[in-house]
Amino acid sequence: MSRLIVVSNRVGPIGDAARAGGLAVALVEALKSSGGIWFGWTGDVIEEADTRLKLESAGPLTLATIDLSADDFDAYYNGFANRSLWPLFHFRTGLVQYDRDNFAGYSRVNAAFAKALLPLVQQDDLIWVHDYHFLLFAEELRKLGCTRPIGHFLHIPFPPRELLTTLPNHEELVKALFAFDILGFQTEHDRDRFFDYVRMEVGGSILGDKARCFNRTVTARAFPIGIDAGTFANFASTDDGQKQFASMRDMLRGRRQIIGVDRLDYTKGLPERFNAFERMLEDHEEHRGEVSLLQVAPPSRTDVSEYQDLRLELEGMAGHINGRFAEFNWTPIRYLNRSFARQALAGLYRASHVGLVTPLRDGMNLVAKEYVAAQDPEDPGVLVLSRFAGAAKQLTDAVIVNPYDVQGMADAMNVALTMPLDERKDRYTKLMKVISEEDIGHWRTSYLEALSSVEHAGVTGG
Ligand code: UDP
Repeated sequence: MSRLIVVSNRVGPIGDAARAGGLAVALVEALKSSGGIWFGWTGDVIEEADTRLKLESAGPLTLATIDLSADDFDAYYNGFANRSLWPLFHFRTGLVQYDRDNFAGYSRVNAAFAKALLPLVQQDDLIWVHDYHFLLFAEELRKLGCTRPIGHFLHIPFPPRELLTTLPNHEELVKALFAFDILGFQTEHDRDRFFDYVRMEVGGSILGDKARCFNRTVTARAFPIGIDAGTFANFASTDDGQKQFASMRDMLRGRRQIIGVDRLDYTKGLPERFNAFERMLEDHEEHRGEVSLLQVAPPSRTDVSEYQDLRLELEGMAGHINGRFAEFNWTPIRYLNRSFARQALAGLYRASHVGLVTPLRDGMNLVAKEYVAAQDPEDPGVLVLSRFAGAAKQLTDAVIVNPYDVQGMADAMNVALTMPLDERKDRYTKLMKVISEEDIGHWRTSYLEALSSVEHAGVTGG
């Protein structure tokens, strides 16, 4: 069996199941079963560039990490990755800030990381690179002579050709993607947007799941990421999950609750969601004093000004809505700028009658799947889901909404709040089937099968 090397911006956490997301858990599982290396950034920023590797062994796997200098952190992470690629790939060209120095920093970090990894690569390794931080990684490794299979998985959407071409370096980036052997996307729509670019912009050809261009061939497929459905369903019955569930239901005293759980990010459609909740209260007097919105929104990327602005905007909106509708014994919106451990979240999901997941654009959205997995099968809540989340392609039995349509979302909340038990159970059963079948283990094994078959087909790119 080949050894696996996982490359991602953040490494870990590996032991702390309460903090680790499904992705971290899945990667650790993959690394444990084949032995392997998890390679990326330490999370520390130091004054001067220093690409010395820190090696730490954790059972059968090795963590290999490097610090970033303050300049590289600003240019690569805060700059090109989070101010150019993140908004652009989420279709928000208006928020893109492009700066040649940032792109230079991004290229420099990709090259430096590839160079640091190379001495660790052995004869039978498979290399699996994650996300938008490392689009140039395979190209850099190939330049150094690496011929092992290298796969990429993009966790965020792939943008339409017309948007991608607004980025001055679009061709350089796409060309670099052809140095990978496998490109994984969240949905077929994302993959097809990549194909469309290849065909229309750079004159490549597509045959089945292969794209050919720049004298290279890459296999591109959708691998929708999942959650550990079983563990999540059981979380709700752990001590912590039970405690959260019981105290939430106590506090609700028979009232009902809608829950939203999102990083505080402009892709998540939070202002639109608050507007829709306000509209729902305007339209439905019967829900006033009876239904509240619990919004968990841990701050994210706090160095980037758009995130600071969004935080202020939401504080203002929550204050306005609460001022307008609150009673001395009922608060319409409880807005929490903090994070919860996943067990605790499972309890909160289960105590909530509606899960509101309304991003303007999202690669997949795991919260949508977690909310469903945490429900009580005998009395499940209802998932209201944006059509622009990757998850909507699989979770067609959710109540699907357009997050730009405030009235439509308000109406959907009412539909969810008044849905009969039979219909709730029916939708839950259908959703759970997809979530359990296409879980995180399925994602990992199908990706790794595709990556290891590259070698057997003898088509590793050079
Ligand atoms: N999450 C968490 N604690 C929180 C908020 C979120 O552990 O307080 C987790 C959540 O359970 C989910 C992940 O963070 O697994 C968010 O993933 P998602 O795909 O929904 O959005 P992303 O943040 O990756 O854009």
